[in-house]
Amino acid sequence: MKVITRIADLKRLRRELFEPVGLVPTMGSLHEGHLSLVRRAREENPSLVVSIFVNPTQFGPREDFKRYPRDTKADMALLEKEAVDVVFVPKADEMYPPQFNSWVEIGGLAERLEGASRPGHFRGVATVCNKLFNIVQPTRAYFGQKDTQQAAVIKKMVAELDMNLEIVTLPIVREPDGLAMSSRNRYLNPDERRAALVLYRALTLGRRLWDDGEKDAGKIRREMARMIQKEPLARIDYVSIAHAETLDELDIVEPPALVSLAVKIGGTRLIDNILL
Ligand code: AMP
Repeated sequence: MKVITRIADLKRLRRELFEPVGLVPTMGSLHEGHLSLVRRAREENPSLVVSIFVNPTQFGPREDFKRYPRDTKADMALLEKEAVDVVFVPKADEMYPPQFNSWVEIGGLAERLEGASRPGHFRGVATVCNKLFNIVQPTRAYFGQKDTQQAAVIKKMVAELDMNLEIVTLPIVREPDGLAMSSRNRYLNPDERRAALVLYRALTLGRRLWDDGEKDAGKIRREMARMIQKEPLARIDYVSIAHAETLDELDIVEPPALVSLAVKIGGTRLIDNILL
């Protein structure tokens, strides 16, 4: 496994890789969710590049960039086990040298949900993915449905800017009790870890109401919100039932619908979603 920190070195190495090349972009502190992407990418591509980069430009000024968990040593051991060919671990000033000022801005669905709650977030995500795609020139890049909106934004960027790669999305990996795996789960103390289950319980409630015939999106949102509000450690950012492709909020729930939420548990902001 080669560990590369410089863009120029990776571009040079890229010429020697066998085609097709798979890319899994991550922010590290790897867990089984990331590894599900790595394993699929390993199966589908003779060459596999994984990037680990806590991307400063996708964090807002009051967000957790500084304290975001970093565990490069453990990450390297996990990736070595998965037979990854190349790990790209650039420093921030390698990706964003002084005077850097070129941005990729996606409109429409990038302005809703996470985009509305975290201004500038998807500009940072789209810009860093664009850079990674240009550096690695992957045949396929792998994203998790844990961040469904992110995957949709990247797919839109790839289609609209005529980029030459395929975006593959894979299901959410959950803990046995239902909590979606996330690097941010490391922030949770035992009480918060228990309280964090309310996200998945609310999503399950939403699905059950819909399964039982409720089609009024407002009613389902309200029932979900009521459940979350009963959890003292939880504070709702949003509860959404939106068209899965446009992310426009729905009045009447019809598939394909994305039920998604962002909830603060203590000081930790968690997101989760299910597709109807
Ligand atoms: P992150 O390191 O949080 O930026 O995530 C890197 C990639 O892993 C993204 O495409 C995420 O959607 C994906 N991912 C994170 N958590 C999970 C999970 N629990 N299940 C599946 N994919 C995930």
